[in-house]
Amino acid sequence: MGVRCLRWGRRGCLLLLLLVAFPQTVLADWFNRKAPIMGTRVFVEIWQEDPQRAQTLMQAVMDEMERINQLMSPYIDSAEVAVVNRDAGQKAVQISQELFDLILKANQYSDLSDGAFDITFASVGHKFDYRKHIRPNPLEQKTATELIDYRHLVLDSKARSIAFDKPGMRIDLGGIAKGYAVDRAVALLQAAGVTHGIVTAGGDSRLIGDHRGRPWMLGIRHPRGEEHVITLPLSDSAVSTSGDYERYFEEDGVRFHHIIDPAKGDSARALLSVTVLADHSVDADALSTTVFVLGPEKGLKLVNSLAGVSAILIDKAGKVLYSDDLVDPTMH
Ligand code: ADP
Ligand code: MG
Repeated sequence: MGVRCLRWGRRGCLLLLLLVAFPQTVLADWFNRKAPIMGTRVFVEIWQEDPQRAQTLMQAVMDEMERINQLMSPYIDSAEVAVVNRDAGQKAVQISQELFDLILKANQYSDLSDGAFDITFASVGHKFDYRKHIRPNPLEQKTATELIDYRHLVLDSKARSIAFDKPGMRIDLGGIAKGYAVDRAVALLQAAGVTHGIVTAGGDSRLIGDHRGRPWMLGIRHPRGEEHVITLPLSDSAVSTSGDYERYFEEDGVRFHHIIDPAKGDSARALLSVTVLADHSVDADALSTTVFVLGPEKGLKLVNSLAGVSAILIDKAGKVLYSDDLVDPTMH
């Protein structure tokens, strides 16, 4: 070995030694993949020893995301949510346990927030098309807003069915489904032994472990620019951002965007962005939308009452607000 080392140089020799001793470790690397799913950008990155296995796992993540999309998209005719929206005004519709459970979870956030989070926001929400700059006229908006109330969802856990108390109601799980999908993807990766990775769907990310000895660095975008205002060093947590800059159009200086205040049937306008940190993405996702609707005072009060949840808000004036457990860097 000594003679060969001389010929290959120190580096080559070290590599050879490592390859012999730990063949997997030396070949280990980061692998990533991007795909457009659920109307957003899905990104997965994992640390893996076997490139073939990395590809298989990343494909499994994308397949799982697409499966959930096919179940929960209101825009895919065959999706359970679309069938519910079509039929639940006339009769109880039997749904999968998975969708039933996620609706129950969503309703917990409705209870917690006095209806600020409400999947029946879609009763009016579906009348907006942000890409085409379409919004309902005032009468349509008022009539549809009266249909918003999650307590008018008739949920039968034995029959696993859902019905609408008021015809014309609609549901949309857009405020929670991406977080749910991220959690499912993470569970799949963890079950396969992945110890370092990230799964992102639009504004919802969850981190598995750290970035091999260092934290992951996640940026919070400036709501009116491309640059990051804050960079958070994070490991093993979920982070979700809801902003008024994702899907919107403006008319006479008024911004119509995709987060709806159920009380008004119109876009919530007290904040520009809300970032929530929690253990699971399903909670971070639902809460970021919830706090966005609640506004700064009620929103921070809710976050401060929840164990293991933190939030960073950007208000109308561009001021950054922190939940009590975070140190405001400008307060020193
Ligand atoms: P995104 O990552 O899609 O920007 P957010 O977490 O910011 O998602 O949530 C916005 C989505 O939540 C909307 O596109 C809509 O589907 C849904 N939504 C809007 N308003 C509400 C509400 N008041 N309650 C529950 N869901 C809502
Ligand atoms: Mg959300």
